[in-house]
Parts: sequence; C-alpha cells; structure tokens
Amino acid sequence: MTELTSTEKHRIFAHFPQKISKAIVAYATDVALISSRYLFTRRHGGFQFGFCTHCQKEYLTEKLKHGDETVCKKCGSTCKVKASGMGRKAMVDQAYFTFYEKSVLHPEAITARGILVARDYSGDYRETKTEYRVEYMYLFEPGNYVLLENRWGKWFKRIQVFSDYPPSMVNRRTTVCRASIEEAVKGTPFQYSTWERYFDRNGDMIRFFQRYVQYPSIEYITKAGFQHIVQAKLTGDKTYGVINWRGKTLPKVMRLSKKELRDIKDHGLTLKAMDLHYFHVSKKRGSQITMTDASLLGALGEEYYATEIEKLLSLTSMDQINRYILKQLRREGKHYRSATTVLTAWRDYLKDCQTLEMDLSKDSILFPNDLYAAHQKTIMKVKIKADLSLNIKIAARLPELQAFHFTDSKFFLRPARDSIELFEEGKALQHCVSGYAEKYAEGKSNIFFIRKIDQPDMPFYTMEVIDQKIIQVCGMKNCHPTDEVQSFIQAFAEEKLRSRKSGKKAEMSATA
Ligand SMILES: [Zn+2]
Repeated sequence: MTELTSTEKHRIFAHFPQKISKAIVAYATDVALISSRYLFTRRHGGFQFGFCTHCQKEYLTEKLKHGDETVCKKCGSTCKVKASGMGRKAMVDQAYFTFYEKSVLHPEAITARGILVARDYSGDYRETKTEYRVEYMYLFEPGNYVLLENRWGKWFKRIQVFSDYPPSMVNRRTTVCRASIEEAVKGTPFQYSTWERYFDRNGDMIRFFQRYVQYPSIEYITKAGFQHIVQAKLTGDKTYGVINWRGKTLPKVMRLSKKELRDIKDHGLTLKAMDLHYFHVSKKRGSQITMTDASLLGALGEEYYATEIEKLLSLTSMDQINRYILKQLRREGKHYRSATTVLTAWRDYLKDCQTLEMDLSKDSILFPNDLYAAHQKTIMKVKIKADLSLNIKIAARLPELQAFHFTDSKFFLRPARDSIELFEEGKALQHCVSGYAEKYAEGKSNIFFIRKIDQPDMPFYTMEVIDQKIIQVCGMKNCHPTDEVQSFIQAFAEEKLRSRKSGKKAEMSATA
C-alpha cells in the first residue's frame, strides 16, 4: 500500500463527485440507518411527550415504555422508544455502505465510495446529525481500476482488491445500493457486464467490477452459461485453469470447439469448472466424452478421486474407466447416484478381487456387468476368508454346544455354526450379533438361534448365554420376545441350564 502523491490524488479525485449527493443521504437515512429511528419520551406536568428523531416532531404520547417498539404518529416510522432520562453515553449507531456513481470526468468510467455513516445520540437528542465519512474510493475505467483507502485522513492506493468488504466492517451493517449501480453503469461498458447476476446486497460488488476491468470476457462467459465458473473466480475458489480469461472469442476463452459449446447449450447443461476440467483431462488421455457425460463425471476431477483414477490407469485406459462408470450410473436399479460413489465401490471391489486373488486381466472380473451385485459377493468372500481362523475355533466348540439343542412343538434352538451365520443373522434382524463372533469363538459367550420349526432357515430370535445365564434375547431391531417365545425360553432354561434346585446339567465352557 502506497500513499497517493498529490498529482495522483488530483488526477483520481477529479473523477468523483465533490459532495455527498441527495441520493446518498436518502440511502443512508432510509436504508442503511433505517433502524436508527427513536422516539425519546419525557414527562411534563403529568403528561408524556415523545420526540421522533426522524421527523423531528414532538407530540403527546401515552404509556410508552423504554425499550418498546412503536410507530411515529406523525411520520409513520417504526421507532424504538427511549426514555430521555436514561443514560446513553455510548449510544452511537453506525452503518457502512457502498454507493456507485458515474465518473464526472470520463463518460465510460464509474466510481464507488465506501461510506461510514454514524449518528451520535449521546448528547442532545434533538440535535443529532448524521456524519458521513468516506473510507474507500474506487475508480473503474475500461482497462484500469484504482482502489483507495482512507487511513487516518491520508489516502493510500491498494494493489489488491478487498474481499467483499473490509474486515474492520464485519461488526457493522454493510450494504451496497443496487439502484446506484443501475444508475452509474447506464451508458458505460459496465452496463453489459452482467453484474446483476452476481449481485449480493450484503457485499460491495468491488471484486466483480475489478475482475470485469481485468477480464471483460466475463460478460460472454456468463452469457454462455458459465456463471458458476465466474462465481468461483470471484470468491477465489478453484477454477482449474479451465478458462483463458484473456481470450478474444468464446471458443478461445472456454477452450472448447463451437460444436462443444453448442452441445452445452442444446442440452441446457450447467457446467462447473471441475466438469470442464475433467472433460479436458479425459480428452487429453484419449477419452472423448460428451458434455453431458462431463456433467455426470465432473466430480471425479476432484483431487481425491483423481488420485484413485490415476491408480486405475495401471489396469485400464481412461476411456474404459469413463465408459464403465457411465454404464454403472445408467444401469437400471440405480444403486449409484453419482460417479464418485461408483468409483469408490469399484475401487473397493477391485481391492477385494486382489485379496481373493481373482484374475484382473479378465474383463469379466475387471468390469463386472452389475458392479453392485459383484461387490456384494466379494464382500462376503473376503469376510469368509478373514474369519477362517475364527470359524475353526467355533467348529471345535460345536460338539459341546450341540447338547443345548432344544425344541418344542413350535420352536427350536441351536448354536450358531459360524461367523457368516452370525453376520447373516445380524443383517436379517438388524441387530449387532455379528460383532460377537470373536467372543463366541473364544468361548467367552454362547450364541443360539431360536427359530420356528416350519421356517428353520429364517432368523427369528438370537440368544446369548454366558455362565449358564441367559444374558439377552433379541429379535428384529432388538425387540423383546413374545409371550410364546418367552415360555419356550423358560422351558429351555429349566431343562438345559444348571439351576440351583436341580443338580448338574449340560456344561458350557463359557464363564462371564
Ligand atoms: Zn416521526
């Protein structure tokens, strides 16, 4: 930041109106400081009088209380009621706004001023004035912009554009006067800049006009439907270098052929920077996807997924990857809603295939027709493989547990045979018995399935027994046993579990 020389100051200031215009005063009064309207009450001879700071009239009021909100009888303003007797040492209202005007020097230039307005009510409330302090000045001419900041009464030139508005303003109400932009840009090149599309009344639009001065191509980039990308540029988000901001024609700016641009328009596509980035990357690697494809696959351009694709490229080509992901996305059944979920599932599936030593050089394995179904299968196979040692232990326990086999006319009960059964039981009944496989294998817990005799393969209730005690019996989503099941369990306990009354029953190795 450098201080302005007097010549510079003279030259730049010549563009700005000398005074605070009526329009600025109106905006400050009716918008920026709209909530700075008060009715000050005082008591006199047993009556209450109220003074409106907006219309400056005083009149008889009734039973108004400090802190109330009321409507001024004379001007209709919404006012906060303040008892004049209350202390108001720190009662100062402030607001900051940006106001645009035409340059008074150059017909194609526009100016803007960042104005801090303040009203100080600490003294005589009948004499309150509005103070205007210009804190920022901006000049935008075709091909050039100047950003000035007022610091302790001196003007400094800034190189970098401010973020939407200066951080020191964060705690104050900050607005921009839209009508002032409309008025200022009329008849200048800025009129066609498409600023309306990026308007944010709580910002100041300075970054937009600064970028527009740098890159007038913003106009036709926006008109061609790439508003998202301009927005990303304005907010400092990644644009992946997809736009040649200094290009002279739309195809050059967008690095797309006329046919590709027409394709986007015809399909009414809204493409983000990442979509175009992915399109270019694919093309460079010999995969000519359509613009519609790019809109579906674009999220894969994100760094994390790009790394995953990079790994896949050791197995197949970019073109095959794109085709396969699109095919899975367009399959009936809709297991996958986005390209990223397909890619993630495919990666996990391939990892399973490697664990299972499946031959990835075969297309039928690398590109299963139905990825979802194929993945479900590998998940189960990997589980079986991983649980092999657990299941050897469970199998060794079974002869001893068979002694607890129990049945009546309707139900029967048997021990779980392996971890896969536990997994299936937990999945079917939506409870977490599958997590017990290790305890079960180690003999620290005993898991039995209660099933109906006429539906022997259908999970019904799961029972855990430790140290001859029934610890829990859980049905669907952890529901409790019905009376019928309860009496079945009762009968089982009496017959098979060691009770204090009767002597020795069948032994279980488990101890709590
Ligand atoms: Zn009034």
